[in-house]
Amino acid sequence: MSALTQLDQIVSCLSGYDPDALRVSKAIEVIEALCAPREIDWAVERVPVRAALGRVLAKDLVSPINVPSHDNAAMDGYAFDGGCIAGAGETLSFTVKGEAFAGRQFNGHCEPGHCVRVMTGAVMPSGCDTVIPQEFTERDGQTIRFLSKAVRRGDNRRLMGEDLTQGKPALSAGRIIRPADLGLAASLGFSELGVRRRVRVAFFSTGDELRSVGEALDPGCVYDSNRYTLFGMLARLGVDVVDMGVVPDQPELLEAAFRQAASSADAIVTSGGVSVGEADFIKTMMAKLGDVTFWRIAMRPGRPMAFGRIWSGARVGEGDSAVLFGLPGNPVAVMVTFYLFVRPGLLSMMGAKGEGGVVMQAVSDEEIPKRAGRTEYRRGVLFVDAKGETRVRTTGGQGSGILRSMSDANCLVMLDHDASLVAKGDRVSVIPFDGLV
Ligand code: AMP
Ligand code: MG
Repeated sequence: MSALTQLDQIVSCLSGYDPDALRVSKAIEVIEALCAPREIDWAVERVPVRAALGRVLAKDLVSPINVPSHDNAAMDGYAFDGGCIAGAGETLSFTVKGEAFAGRQFNGHCEPGHCVRVMTGAVMPSGCDTVIPQEFTERDGQTIRFLSKAVRRGDNRRLMGEDLTQGKPALSAGRIIRPADLGLAASLGFSELGVRRRVRVAFFSTGDELRSVGEALDPGCVYDSNRYTLFGMLARLGVDVVDMGVVPDQPELLEAAFRQAASSADAIVTSGGVSVGEADFIKTMMAKLGDVTFWRIAMRPGRPMAFGRIWSGARVGEGDSAVLFGLPGNPVAVMVTFYLFVRPGLLSMMGAKGEGGVVMQAVSDEEIPKRAGRTEYRRGVLFVDAKGETRVRTTGGQGSGILRSMSDANCLVMLDHDASLVAKGDRVSVIPFDGLV
């Protein structure tokens, strides 16, 4: 498939594709398809286990051993053959024949009527399959006694391989490595892991009115905050970032910036310049640079967005290419469109799997106005009330320029495309930031 027509091919397979009133779900489908990892991007790096935190596992991690490697005691107590429990009288008694600790096993065979004192983690002595916890026993010299109903055969024993089985994948390719996975890899004896190379993302802000922090704020100007929120969101995703600063609304400068970004990065994220008044000259420029479509997404905030692939060379298809996410300029719209569209796109490029995020249900603490025919995202605070019910309230002024509404929030409230007014007490869908942000 020629790269030039890739976007056309993707959208031609979609039913109900309308770039001027695009549903959020359709936009995500197109983005994930265009961002699917290409063979050339599947380079594997071997890194020490700790350095793999937050990276994408390149291949299934197959367990070379069983964990645990032997059946072992799950409690401090006495191990014995549980075959005698069924049919026993009210109490059972055993003669203590030895001891086993974690790391020091009992080297004999435990005969019927005998037991072995065991500590948690000790290898189960030969002949034993059950552990009676110490607190249920009475000891008198070398004899222990306990109520037979206090234990069932097989209790308090961890089975060989019950955590990880030799020859089976302990972690699957595409997994983003978390703290538990570091421990899991270490429990298998791995000192290094194979991870995908990091995706490289260039980003810049567009707008003549923007000033960078450290500069004087001229009348009518605003500080560029988008490069900071974008930096934070990209860094959390674990990509390499290339901050290209602020680019004024001048066609030559913008074109140079886009070409440079395409030659140095896998993806480009820009903010501003895609709203109706500004998009015209950008559209003309994009037609020169690559295969970019301009969407009006049926959502709020964040209606306009540009998406596609651009090239660094003199002609389309020449030089290096990068996927372009042209986000709206408003600070809240940038963040919402990042989470909804850029994040899944970049995760797809990274080869990450199973990172869809959690959608919860919560009771709305207030009435929320809503227009049917678009998906609306409010910034919310999710909390559990005194009765244990999960509720959500919105964070004050919801204008798409009010970044504070985002900073105060711990979730996005997602109001469905077809929904209209939400009454107080209605259930709404909520996307928690935790794990996302
Ligand atoms: P635009 O989409 O370029 O028309 O921008 C929409 C609004 O967002 C305008 O009020 C801009 O001043 C504001 N804006 C655009 N880019 C940024 C930025 N990087 N930081 C803060 N505000 C911005
Ligand atoms: Mg602008």
